Amino acid sequence: MSIFAGLGGPDPTPDRHHDAHDAPDGPDGPAAPLCSARGCRATATWAHRWNNPRLHAPERRKVWLACDEHRSSLADFLGARGFLRDTVAVGDLTSQDG
Ligand SMILES: [Zn+2]
Repeated sequence: MSIFAGLGGPDPTPDRHHDAHDAPDGPDGPAAPLCSARGCRATATWAHRWNNPRLHAPERRKVWLACDEHRSSLADFLGARGFLRDTVAVGDLTSQDG
């Protein structure tokens, strides 16, 4: 068909936005929450809700976000100090969390 066929070279078709590795980028979705682990830029899928009774009122909940990879290490960190209250999916956080 085209006189350019068979010339080789890069395919100019801009059709490579299927990199499943990246955060979802819906047209109007909220920014993807990021994992709280140091240096981690992964999208968080879990939220550890915790409370330090020496600093926070008993009903207060702090939240650490975690990706799948760091979910257990962050939970271990909080759990070892007796701070961890529960772990929920990011989508299950409420406006009272944070
Ligand atoms: Zn992470």
